Amino acid sequence: MAQEILCKTVHQYNKEPIPVADMRKLQEIAEDYRSVKNYVYARYGGIHSLPKIYPGYTVQNEMTDCGLRAKLAMPAAYFYLAVFDALGDIKSRWGQTKSRVLKLVGQNENFTADEKHYLRFLLKCSNAFEAVLNQNPIILPPELQQKYDILAKQVDTKKLHRYLCRQVRKCHAGCQHTDMAEGFSITERAYRYGESKEGSLQGEKQGIFISTKEKRKRIFIPLTDENKYKKQLYIKLKPDENGIEIDVPIETKIRVHKDYTNEIGLSVGIWCMFTTDGGTVYGGRFGELHQELVEYISAAEKTYRREKDHNAGRKKYRARKEKLTAALETYVNQEINRMIVAEKPQTIYIPRLPGGVSNRYSPKVNYSVNMWRKGFVRERLKQKCKENSIEIVEVIGKAISTECSRCGVVGKYSKDIFQCESCGYETDKKRNAAQNALKRGKTGMQLNKEMVH
Ligand SMILES: [Zn+2]
Repeated sequence: MAQEILCKTVHQYNKEPIPVADMRKLQEIAEDYRSVKNYVYARYGGIHSLPKIYPGYTVQNEMTDCGLRAKLAMPAAYFYLAVFDALGDIKSRWGQTKSRVLKLVGQNENFTADEKHYLRFLLKCSNAFEAVLNQNPIILPPELQQKYDILAKQVDTKKLHRYLCRQVRKCHAGCQHTDMAEGFSITERAYRYGESKEGSLQGEKQGIFISTKEKRKRIFIPLTDENKYKKQLYIKLKPDENGIEIDVPIETKIRVHKDYTNEIGLSVGIWCMFTTDGGTVYGGRFGELHQELVEYISAAEKTYRREKDHNAGRKKYRARKEKLTAALETYVNQEINRMIVAEKPQTIYIPRLPGGVSNRYSPKVNYSVNMWRKGFVRERLKQKCKENSIEIVEVIGKAISTECSRCGVVGKYSKDIFQCESCGYETDKKRNAAQNALKRGKTGMQLNKEMVH
């Protein structure tokens, strides 16, 4: 089996609140970045620019000459990334338009098979597509030209070209635009990982230096981890939280474990993360750690409402919250790894997440806390399974904890013990649910399969 590569995004975060002046400098870059993107959308998003956007050198050259960079006084490292970022968006929008028109062609019952064939050819051959839209003669490489000539003989090309132009204008109407200056991409030319003592009371700190619009002035942002990457990053700004999120695209090799042959059922819980059908618990402290975070946040928010401008307290609060969140994340990852190594599963069956879970907490409690319960554990589990070629299958979750996994009759549970009055089966409630998950998975009561290969 060939080694497969999995793409994912990992995140890095600021360790301390970013000073307002520094945040302002980052926002300046994000605003310029947005201006450049909107300029490129407006200038190259239309039909007439179609020949220029592949592969894009024309756009790059024209953008160099247009004077916008000088006007914004924007470092080249950011300017060209914004240009290519916008070009990427324009290309993907054209891709969407083409596939929409392709669909319309397929659905149109007035066209003969030859007409549909001809239109599909135009939509798939970008040189031909551009020529038709700009009313130019269609000139193609010899091999394609031959193919085109044969197709064109069978149909009324003028009529079909008119149809194509009309549909494209309809599907491609309006101009792309972004109002949000939420962040910017950055290459190694404009950042560097390193240490700094600046503004710190506790010695050196690991972090990232980011170029600003001021020449040779980089701002330093301490980060919560010490990972260093050498690739294009995306800096997402969170001015309301005095923070940033760095998105790092990562490629990992998918591992294949020949000795992972087990099929297991998992019950996912609020207190214990996972219970297996064999009765083993992983993440037994999850509920406790999560509760600590919830209680800390809701207590802090009560204090806020009393004393709104207490800034020092707010700083302390953020630091503590980040620490608790990071600890919880680490714990979840460790326990998932532990489960995978110990259980050696080939397939994991889990009950589908029931609806309405998010309402369990009052909306006053922090949004991110609710997110934890809703999705984080499952997302991490899915990711780790992908990385290890483990198949994860969701099964129907209805009545999964009340049904007896041995005889199928509805039983009852008191506290943590499930009891079946019909066959006398008695076991941990979560384990019974996990056994049902396994049973349902094996008997085909599956909802979706998340396959890797
Ligand atoms: Zn029973």
